[in-house]
Amino acid sequence: MSFENFPLSKGDGRFLETRAKTHTLPQTLLLEGGEETVRRTLAKQMAAAIVCRDKTNAPCGVCLACKKCASGNHPDISVFAPEKKNAQFKVEVCRQIRQDAFVVPNDGDCKVYILEDSQNMNDSSENALLKILEEPPRGVYFILTCDSRASMLSTVLSRATTVSLTGDCTPFSEETVQTATALAEALCKDSEWELLCACAALKKEREEIRSVLLCLCDILTEALCVKSGGTGGEAAKALAGKRTKEKLYAAQKETEALLQSAARNANTNLLLTGVCYRLRQAMEHK
Ligand SMILES: [Zn+2]
Repeated sequence: MSFENFPLSKGDGRFLETRAKTHTLPQTLLLEGGEETVRRTLAKQMAAAIVCRDKTNAPCGVCLACKKCASGNHPDISVFAPEKKNAQFKVEVCRQIRQDAFVVPNDGDCKVYILEDSQNMNDSSENALLKILEEPPRGVYFILTCDSRASMLSTVLSRATTVSLTGDCTPFSEETVQTATALAEALCKDSEWELLCACAALKKEREEIRSVLLCLCDILTEALCVKSGGTGGEAAKALAGKRTKEKLYAAQKETEALLQSAARNANTNLLLTGVCYRLRQAMEHK
């Protein structure tokens, strides 16, 4: 399944597609921006991917789990929303979810909670969810939708992987692609020197760092596709040839974490140090 019809950036679309297919989606996902109906549709497709029985091509659309999702009758997918538009998302609901999350799933190994309109949660509701978002039980997934990440508590944001549906499909500038490619090439090398040089070329502008990281995320996702027999650009092929799947996943995870820091207004100097250090660590990850 492809997410082409959703207003996702190229990086986010590919990220969701690869992770969905291979059952490696993050346990807490925040879908923000765009229209609420579109966010809901995407949330349901992600939920289907999580419970789908196909191990390499989820959501397959044909297995029993996918069929149950399509008819809205999957026992392990629960959808919660405020009672009416603009109403508060009740703290009791969050507490109920927190308890229910520890009950074993009915059908398979996974269960999914979709929390629509999470921007209508007040601080106590968000806080009631924090602990479970921080350490979700095995096989339990949360998909939150909200109008803007700005309306969520930073503590919730730091526990979720955010995907924007703002339709920002602008291609990366040539300079961004060059810098991201240099970083990808540096990740193929065994010495730290290349990575230091590539990081030094990064501009000290938060937006540019973000674009480069997004572009690098794209390359890493492509490299993972190549590993699974798909196609990718030169940089992705080189990475796939040189690094194991585990290291590529580790680098992708670190890049996502860095993107989250960039979104949270991290100090650019700290962010740049983080880029170098965290990517290096990912490559040393055993
Ligand atoms: Zn399926």
